Amino acid sequence: MSLKNYILDIQGFPKEGILFKDITPLLINADASKNCLKILVSSLKDKKIDKVIGVESRGFLFGMLIAQEVNVGFVPVRKPNKLPYKTISATYDLEYGTDTLEIHIDAIQKGDRVVIHDDVLATGGTIKAVCELVERLGGEIVQCNFIMELSFLNGREKVKEQEIFAVIRY
Ligand code: AMP
Repeated sequence: MSLKNYILDIQGFPKEGILFKDITPLLINADASKNCLKILVSSLKDKKIDKVIGVESRGFLFGMLIAQEVNVGFVPVRKPNKLPYKTISATYDLEYGTDTLEIHIDAIQKGDRVVIHDDVLATGGTIKAVCELVERLGGEIVQCNFIMELSFLNGREKVKEQEIFAVIRY
């Protein structure tokens, strides 16, 4: 069965006008989530990778699994004031207002080859901010990797120079 069958559309969550793509049906099915992980990992075949970054919070789920599969360390990028050690931060625009993400300053070494994982690529603001954090720490971005890309929102345009991979496209 197509992995699209494990993504549930929730109209109006978290607010009116948003069609939320819910991955909990995928998470609850062991075969489907293993298949999703296999596809994410196969997209990294023959690429040299030093770290996998997961974006809070749904990016943590498969991000850590990918890191284990490719046998490298996992780095969380988190919302403000969640990380306990010294951080750098990047602020980006949302539809209304702004949001900020943080990373520990020692999480990436200069020259580290990094894969960034999140569940959904929507408008691209989030991934652009994470790319900025990685680059400020001297990391090289190998791939930005997602379960889903909402291609009609043109998120790729914000990170044109990056390789983008998504298991599912809408
Ligand atoms: P964006 O910055 O617009 O690319 O949004 C990406 C982030 O917001 C990801 O961390 C997603 O988890 C979340 N997100 C944005 N739009 C959706 C959506 N329609 N369904 C589920 N999650 C979304």
